[in-house]
Amino acid sequence: MIYSLVLGSQKLLLLKFLQSILNLFYPKQCLHCHRHLLADEVLLCSACRHHLPETGFCERTDNPVETIFKGRVPIIQATALLFFRKKGISQELIHHLKYKGRQDVGVFFGKWMGAELKQSKRFSSLDVIIKVPLHPKKKKLRGYNQLTSFAEELSKNLYLPVVEGILIKVGTSTSQTKKGRFGRFEKIDEKFHCKDTKSLRGKHILLVDDVITTGATLEACTNELLKIPEVRISLAAMVISDGQ
Ligand SMILES: [Zn+2]
Repeated sequence: MIYSLVLGSQKLLLLKFLQSILNLFYPKQCLHCHRHLLADEVLLCSACRHHLPETGFCERTDNPVETIFKGRVPIIQATALLFFRKKGISQELIHHLKYKGRQDVGVFFGKWMGAELKQSKRFSSLDVIIKVPLHPKKKKLRGYNQLTSFAEELSKNLYLPVVEGILIKVGTSTSQTKKGRFGRFEKIDEKFHCKDTKSLRGKHILLVDDVITTGATLEACTNELLKIPEVRISLAAMVISDGQ
């Protein structure tokens, strides 16, 4: 027993040593300004992290995320961590997560969101996490669902299970609209289906997504999940676009 503990700590030391050697030759860079990261910095250097456009919505009742859904779907609470800024750090983070295979961005957001929700009284009655599903074809093309690492990290921090297979995506159609919430945009009609309306009866679901723009995707998902009797839905997204 003691022998295996000693062996375990030696392995850990060796791993840390190898990591620091690797870091010496291939230093990790800030995702935004490309400066070398210090040992305790993750993804972004402290200066860039300091400039993140944080929303501070978690503890705010009637925050702008909740306002989007008012009169559209009944939700309990909603929040987002950052404002989306064109050519800003938040856009860059999402771009790396969705198109560059950087699932560690999801871990970064998951850890952060997990810490915020854990402290929040508003989100204290959650039971399960469900992520907005990707169509199987898109998942095959991208190789991963960009929400997986986010949801898994949230699950670890909040001690809640991620439930798969209840909400599925069945199709998408696109059309151009003239005036939306933020002027011209492509109207994307996404169709989801709730496969099982029994096993989550009476549960409080945290539905998670990456970016909220018009709220159409989360609205469609929430409407499907509301087919489950006595269910309650709250929403958490990494980023919200407020049109700036
Ligand atoms: Zn930086």
